[in-house]
Amino acid sequence: MTDAAADVLIVGAGAAGLSLARRLTASAKPDDHAPPSVIIVEPPRESLVRSPDRTWCFWESEPGEYDDSLVTARWNRLRITTRDGRRMLVPSQRAYKMIRSVDFLREVGGALANRPCVRMVEATVTGVRDTCGGADVSASDSSGRPIRLSARWVFDSRPPQAMPAARTTLLQHFRGWFVTTREERFEPDVADLMDFRTRQPERGLSFAYVLPFSPREALVEYTEFSDAPLPESTYDAALEAYLDSSLPLGGFHVTGIEQGVIPMTDGDFPRRDGEHVFRIGVAGGATRPSTGYAFAAIQRQSAAIAAAWRAGRIPEPPQAHAARHRLMDAVMLRALATGRAGPAFFEDLFRRNPPDRVLRFLDGTSTPRDEWRIGLSTPVPAMLRSLLELPLIPRRRATT
Ligand SMILES: Cc1cc2nc3c(=O)[nH]c(=O)nc-3n(C[C@H](O)[C@H](O)[C@H](O)COP(=O)(O)OP(=O)(O)OC[C@H]3O[C@@H](n4cnc5c(N)ncnc54)[C@H](O)[C@@H]3O)c2cc1C
Repeated sequence: MTDAAADVLIVGAGAAGLSLARRLTASAKPDDHAPPSVIIVEPPRESLVRSPDRTWCFWESEPGEYDDSLVTARWNRLRITTRDGRRMLVPSQRAYKMIRSVDFLREVGGALANRPCVRMVEATVTGVRDTCGGADVSASDSSGRPIRLSARWVFDSRPPQAMPAARTTLLQHFRGWFVTTREERFEPDVADLMDFRTRQPERGLSFAYVLPFSPREALVEYTEFSDAPLPESTYDAALEAYLDSSLPLGGFHVTGIEQGVIPMTDGDFPRRDGEHVFRIGVAGGATRPSTGYAFAAIQRQSAAIAAAWRAGRIPEPPQAHAARHRLMDAVMLRALATGRAGPAFFEDLFRRNPPDRVLRFLDGTSTPRDEWRIGLSTPVPAMLRSLLELPLIPRRRATT
């Protein structure tokens, strides 16, 4: 017995799940396949498996599709600060924008719930099984009652439980404070993308990330690219040390916390789990290995899936990042993991290239010409050595 059935079932109402549902159910043109019926399954708020609230930043040309109601902050100037305190202002043609996941769920999820072809189900998915002509999904609701759902196509965005076998797996791990200061301390139109005046780990690197919302409010994060996350107290001590030495705020109080771990891996995330089951979002390899950014790639991946649906093709998620980007990222991860690259790598990237070229690269929209120039601006012997080593390194499984 099935409790509900649809053309498409999406597991998870996070960035990938909601972005895909929104695009699949957008109005169709006359020659398009009609929009599918969609079921979206998201665990109840109190569930332990539910993803914590977060902020998503990404680059976008103006005007952007989420500008009207979702973008809560934007910056047109970014700043990189080197370990010795030199500041590089990076003016960008594209704005760096922020969306809060809680707003995304409320606005996009709310609009979807009002569409007749969409059904939101509050439940925790426990299993997905390919069947003849579709897939079955088992779940349980907040009272533990089992639910059975079925669909022609299932898109699963549950965060991956294990990392794929990889040559290099590092973690981007961070903890940030939303602060309100007594005095005006921030320049609201300048975001500090990387301030390297933080204590540097033995391997990998660390930096502070400061996103101001007003002269008195900002998100200040301490981030490391390294092997393992830190105890909360170590992040707090690093934030305090950074604020003491580099960004004195005077009196301030902390109004919220953001903490996370994003895997940076050159392993391949499978995008297909069966004939009718696909993985999307982070689970489907949307995270850019060298940066941890995924939101922009998720938008591109969702648009491609919806285009395939409208054209009547199998709606298989495409690879989120070009093969040449993945190769460059694998080289960079290897260089980071071996200590051949550190803060100087990123400092030089911004010093030796026009800002928009670097930002296009970080965003995954750079051209081969951009990448050639970027390659030449990196420490070539160290990068070449890392590249030549890649075929010799076995792919191993790491857990996070
Ligand atoms: C703290 C943090 C900050 C980040 N900031 C940025 C950023 O600024 N820019 C950027 O590009 N990327 C950022 N990322 C990376 C990436 O964009 C986010 O992780 C993004 O949320 C990934 O989207 P997703 O849909 O793949 O996963 P999620 O958004 O985590 O969505 C997965 C969904 O599945 C649901 N789910 C989990 N288990 C079940 C289950 N059993 N049954 C049903 N549903 C389930 C979850 O509740 C969640 O809603 C950040 C990541 C973190 C952790």
